[in-house]
Amino acid sequence: MKVYDMLIVGGGPAGLTAGLYASRSTLDALLFERMVPGGQIVNTEWVEDYPGFGKIRGAELAEKIREHSQSFGLQILQENVKEVYTEGDLRCVKTENAEYKALTVLVAPGGFPRRLGVPGEAKLNGKGVSYCGICDGAFFKDQRIMVAGGGDSAAEEAHFLTKFGSHVHMVHRRDELRAKRILQERVLKNPKITVIWDTVVTEIKGDTEVRSVLLKNVKTGEITEQETEGVFIFIGFKPNSGVIRDPVELDQDGHIITSRHMETSIKGIFAAGDVRSQIVRQITNSVGDATVAVVAAERYIEALKEKGVK
Ligand code: NAP
Repeated sequence: MKVYDMLIVGGGPAGLTAGLYASRSTLDALLFERMVPGGQIVNTEWVEDYPGFGKIRGAELAEKIREHSQSFGLQILQENVKEVYTEGDLRCVKTENAEYKALTVLVAPGGFPRRLGVPGEAKLNGKGVSYCGICDGAFFKDQRIMVAGGGDSAAEEAHFLTKFGSHVHMVHRRDELRAKRILQERVLKNPKITVIWDTVVTEIKGDTEVRSVLLKNVKTGEITEQETEGVFIFIGFKPNSGVIRDPVELDQDGHIITSRHMETSIKGIFAAGDVRSQIVRQITNSVGDATVAVVAAERYIEALKEKGVK
C-alpha cells in the first residue's frame, strides 16, 4: 500500500494551508474533505479581518485558498474521514471508502455548532430552528427571528439576519455580550435588533414549524412566551476531536492539546485550527497553526525517512 508523507483531515483554512505548504515543499500529501473545501468560512457572508483582502465574501476567500493550495499540486479527495489511528511508525486514516497510510497526519476537522439541548430544538431543526444564517436566513423574509447567544457568531449573524427578518431578538444569558467590541456596537446600534439580557431559551414550541419560544430570565426566574418564526442558535462550537481513535490529550471542552509545534500527544499526529485548544478561533491563527504544523511535520518525516521507514 502507498505510504504518503502527510494525510490532512479537513479542508477548512487550516487544512488547505497545510496542503499548500506541504505540496509546495514537495511532500506527498493528500487532503480529505467531506463537503466543499473552505470550512466554516463558506457559510460566512463577509470576512473583513483576513489581512490583504479588505472585505471579501467568505465563499470567495475559501475558493481562493483552495485554488492556491491546488496550484502546488495538492490532491483533494471528497471523502468522509471516520477515524485516525496509529500502526507502528505509520499514521493512518480510515474513510467511508478506504484506508490510507502515511508518516504523519494533520488533523484539522474543525467542529460543529453546539446545541441548546432544550425541548423542541431537535424536533424543529430545519423547521424554523437553524444554526446557519447564510444557509437559512432568506426563508425568514419579513418574519420574526430569535437569535440565541452572545459571542462573535451570534452578533455577526444577528446583524446579517436583519437583512431578512422583520425584527431580530437576540437572547443572551448575561448582561453583556462576549462578542468583540466592533461586533457589539453593530448589534447595539442596529434598530432592527433588540437584545433580551439575562435570559435563556428553555423550550422551542411548534408542531410542524416553530411558533414560539419560552424564555426564562435567569435573574428573576420569570418565564415568558414570545412568538417567533425562526430560532437561530449560535452558542459556540464543539470540536471534532473524536476523529482520533487512540487516546489523545484534550482540554476540558474537548479541544486537542498540542505542543507549540502543533504536535498532539501522539507522535506524528499534528492538529491545527478550531479543533485545537487555544484562546482564539480566527482564520488567521488556523493558517498560522497549519504553517507551524507542516514545518514541524517535515522534520519528523525526514527523521523517519533517515531511519528507512519510507
Ligand atoms: P463563543 O465565543 O464560545 O460564544 C458562545 C456564546 O454563547 C457566548 O455568548 C455564551 O455565553 C453563549 N452560550 C454558550 N452556551 C450557552 C447556553 N447553553 N445557553 C445560552 N447561551 C450560551 O462562540 P462563537 O460565537 O460561536 O465563536 C466561536 C469562536 O469563533 C470564537 O473564538 C470567536 O471569536 C470566533 N469567531 C470569530 C468571528 C470574527 O472574528 N468575525 C466570527 C465568528 C466566530 P457567555 O458569554 O455567557 O459565555
